[in-house]
Amino acid sequence: MARGVGIGGHTRGPLTPGRVVAVHGRYYRVETADRILECVTRGKKGGVACNDQVEVRPAGAAGGVIERILPRRNLLWRSDGQRAKLLAANVDRVLVVTAAVPSPRMSLLDRCLVAAEAAGIEALIVVNKADLDETRAFLERLAPYGALGYPILSLSALRDVTALLPWLKGRTSVLVGASGVGKSTLTNALVPEAHAATGEVSRALDAGRHTTTHTRLHHLPQGGALIDSPGMQEFGLRHLTLKDIQAAFPEIRVRLGSCRFHNCRHLQEPGCAVLEAVRQGRILEDRWRVFRDLVLDNSQTPRH
Ligand code: GDP
Ligand code: ZN
Repeated sequence: MARGVGIGGHTRGPLTPGRVVAVHGRYYRVETADRILECVTRGKKGGVACNDQVEVRPAGAAGGVIERILPRRNLLWRSDGQRAKLLAANVDRVLVVTAAVPSPRMSLLDRCLVAAEAAGIEALIVVNKADLDETRAFLERLAPYGALGYPILSLSALRDVTALLPWLKGRTSVLVGASGVGKSTLTNALVPEAHAATGEVSRALDAGRHTTTHTRLHHLPQGGALIDSPGMQEFGLRHLTLKDIQAAFPEIRVRLGSCRFHNCRHLQEPGCAVLEAVRQGRILEDRWRVFRDLVLDNSQTPRH
């Protein structure tokens, strides 16, 4: 058969470059120079992330097929069990949103930071709900994270988000964090037309068992973009190797090479510089526990 005609029922047209601005299950919204196309991938191929640069073959009035994903600068993703969930590609900053209420899960914060580190993306810890009294004590609890080098910004999405604007301008940022910390409220405050579902709506969706992952990119009025992903309960990191995990904890990274054994896993080995630092209180024990859990979890799964 002659090459270049009639593949998959479509006549071969020119490829158009575009940017993926929404991912809804296996449907992708792609922004091209002059229009928006609702796209699918060929066959069952998934693996397209929000903010991927792609090449699309337009089909029909406003549809298309994603034929190629251009090389990524980085990719933020999580893996729960065997399933990979791509959060966003080519991002400049991960905004890890936390709040004193509902009662924060520090291990989720740690996992978000590890994911950002592993992907080589800068992280900013956003402490939302600064209007609540509980926030003061929470900020004290977070002080060690500042000492690790993570910038911390406290604000109230309900009242005033201007402190965040300089961090967002001209950049592509992605919001991550537990359900209920105020990500939708923040998105609504920053992107007036976003109308992200807040409160009841998102809770209703989160409760649904088959909620389709819906990640969206919003253009910001002052330039730059904000990627919004659904609330998460877990942040699986099964895809990381021991090396990745060690390198993703700044306080462990700086001690690599100081242990008695060159192949120390920093779990229980004698002469371990990391464990010594935990004993001395120089490394937060809770952070080390997250490290340990990641190492143990990942050593039990065969890696592809
Ligand atoms: P999401 O699940 O992270 O998207 O969180 P939502 O944006 O749905 O917010 C969860 C709840 O926190 C809602 O009831 C919001 O009104 C509330 N909330 C969001 N931002 C603030 C804030 O700055 N202060 C206070 N007190 N409540 C907030
Ligand atoms: Zn060690």
